[in-house]
Amino acid sequence: MKKSLRKKLSLSYIFVTMICVVLISILSNFFLNKQFKNYVIQEHERKNQIIVTAVNQQYSTNKKHNTDVIKSVGIEAIENGVFITVRDASGKTIWDAEAYDNSKCEEVKNHLTSTMETLFPNWKGIYTKDDYNIINNSKKVGVIEIGYYGPFYYNDNDILYSKTLNKILISVGIASLCIALIVGLLMAKRLSKPILNVIDTAEMISKGDYSQRIEKKSDIEEIDKLTRSINNLGKSLYEQEKLRKRLTRDVSHELRTPLTTLQSHMEALIDGIWEPTTDRLIGCHEEILRLNRLVGDLEKLNLYESENLILNKTKFKLGEVIKNIVFNFEKEILTKEIELIFYDKEIVLYADKDKVRQVIVNLISNALKYTQKSGKVEVKLFQDGLYTKVSVKDSGLGISEKDLPYVFERFYRVDKSRNKLTGGAGIGLTITKSIVEAHMGTINVESTINQGTEFIIKLPMNS
Ligand code: ADP
Repeated sequence: MKKSLRKKLSLSYIFVTMICVVLISILSNFFLNKQFKNYVIQEHERKNQIIVTAVNQQYSTNKKHNTDVIKSVGIEAIENGVFITVRDASGKTIWDAEAYDNSKCEEVKNHLTSTMETLFPNWKGIYTKDDYNIINNSKKVGVIEIGYYGPFYYNDNDILYSKTLNKILISVGIASLCIALIVGLLMAKRLSKPILNVIDTAEMISKGDYSQRIEKKSDIEEIDKLTRSINNLGKSLYEQEKLRKRLTRDVSHELRTPLTTLQSHMEALIDGIWEPTTDRLIGCHEEILRLNRLVGDLEKLNLYESENLILNKTKFKLGEVIKNIVFNFEKEILTKEIELIFYDKEIVLYADKDKVRQVIVNLISNALKYTQKSGKVEVKLFQDGLYTKVSVKDSGLGISEKDLPYVFERFYRVDKSRNKLTGGAGIGLTITKSIVEAHMGTINVESTINQGTEFIIKLPMNS
């Protein structure tokens, strides 16, 4: 069964937190209890020493055993679960806890055994007796026998402390679990929300609504990248769609004009409104030529834009090819009184001569087409490292910033009315770009409206 990202993230967080909290609780409980047990054993040893010191002191003060002091020490010891017997140097019992109050001793022992057995089911209490000598002036003056349940035992205070400690641990565990759960849920929401946004937008885009964008930025790098990619995808699909519509509109428009003219001319001739004079027939013939040119352009486009454009490479002097092209344009140059300057350079290029020729023809032809009378066109050939560069710069109409990114697109024409006069179908630059790219080169354009345009092609010397 498929789970939502949010559910999956939340469950993972809950699972990981639970494991962490349980593990931390078990480990801290184990280590704290171990430490506490060691502390209790040391404490027991310390208490034994206090008893021994107290009994020693009572002897050294009076140089004989004081039964009252020993008794008070012994009674206090019973309360702590310790049962003492004090004997003098000859071995005679001075004071014995069990002899003093056997029932109290039994009561304390039973209480201690039952609490320890409840707390530690494996606890096997063994009644142990340790002997300590009573020394005065380096002379043994008696023995204290200290009896207790070993290896360790907890008195009521110890148990209370241990219980409080466990309660604190459990509370801290529960509190951390709750905090981790809340943080986990918030994190899952924070992670899944932008992804859900991306999904929504991607779905809208796939349904054809290319205007959809994700506005909210994410501070998670990967999600931010994903968001940007979806936005870019939407943008480029939007542009493609716009271009496709424009392309269909342009092609149908291009076809419609000559077809409509032809239709009306033919109808007029059939109905006898017009005489089939040579002029009329020439008019019809021109429209047919226009149609033919358009179909030819479409074919050319298909040829140059095909992925496996075959290049027939040879070595040739690029300067000479350009000079020849300029020479062929002489008629246009003279008619428009354009000053064309060519800056030559001795460069031998290894490329498809005919196709490179086509590129230069397209660029110079455009420069001449879109430059007014008495304008200036400069063609410059130069070398830049391992690349050959050709710049075609004119002082013509220029291209607006809005149109500049699209000039290499199929059938894109900056200004329809402008092109009506110049006759272009908007495929010259598309072909130019395809040829340059087939040679592993690049083409760039810079333009300022009403000031001029510069196209620069960059071709590797040995492409
Ligand atoms: P066309 O055959 O219409 O000239 P192109 O693909 O060669 O088609 O050019 C696309 C568009 O770019 C043209 O319609 C024109 O408006 C613009 N253009 C190309 N070169 C120039 C230039 N040198 N100066 C101004 N506009 C240009």
